[in-house]
Amino acid sequence: MLNIVLFGPPGAGKGTQAAKLIEKYQLVHISTGDLFRMHIKEQTELGKRVKDLLDNGILVPDSVTIDMLEEEVQKNPDAKGIIFDGFPRTVPQAAALDAFLASKNSDIKAVLQLDVDEAELKRRIAERKKVSGRADDDEDKLVKRIDEYFNKTVHVLPYYQAQGKLTVVNGIGQIEEIFNNLCSAIDTE
Ligand code: ADP
Repeated sequence: MLNIVLFGPPGAGKGTQAAKLIEKYQLVHISTGDLFRMHIKEQTELGKRVKDLLDNGILVPDSVTIDMLEEEVQKNPDAKGIIFDGFPRTVPQAAALDAFLASKNSDIKAVLQLDVDEAELKRRIAERKKVSGRADDDEDKLVKRIDEYFNKTVHVLPYYQAQGKLTVVNGIGQIEEIFNNLCSAIDTE
């Protein structure tokens, strides 16, 4: 299976690039942020539990996130590969994903990090807020999300670097150009 982790801070363009990658490589897209928002919209038990966390830009506890993720992977037994978008966001999540995939005789092929500086992230999300309607796109919540990224999520990078799976791609530039760089990284794996 061609399993890929798309990695990067809020506003790095993971959603945009994931949409292009799934089309080209015929992959299943699993975005934990999208899944949580769907649960909130449908007012499921899980949705009620995580709503305040999402609205405030705080990470959902690992156990809750990992259970939801594994369930979603199980729903796609025939997938040629999966793009993980917004997951893993902590080292325990990364370790859980490795163990889970190993139990299916599979693994992560590549981790692609979209590199975008903080000033550009803030500019992009301020722009997105005009249309997204996302409570967590408010400026104070965004600061929290960027904080969570730099305090907790960046530690996932050395984890994958140690496995020789990490490629950093410049996330600033034309969408097509960034996409081509991501594809080259995948094709050399
Ligand atoms: P973005 O990348 O724009 O910050 P996402 O849509 O990926 O946003 O995630 C939105 C929110 O969902 C996060 O701020 C967090 O509250 C929750 N979330 C998503 N993925 C995870 C995860 N892997 N672990 C914990 N919380 C998560």
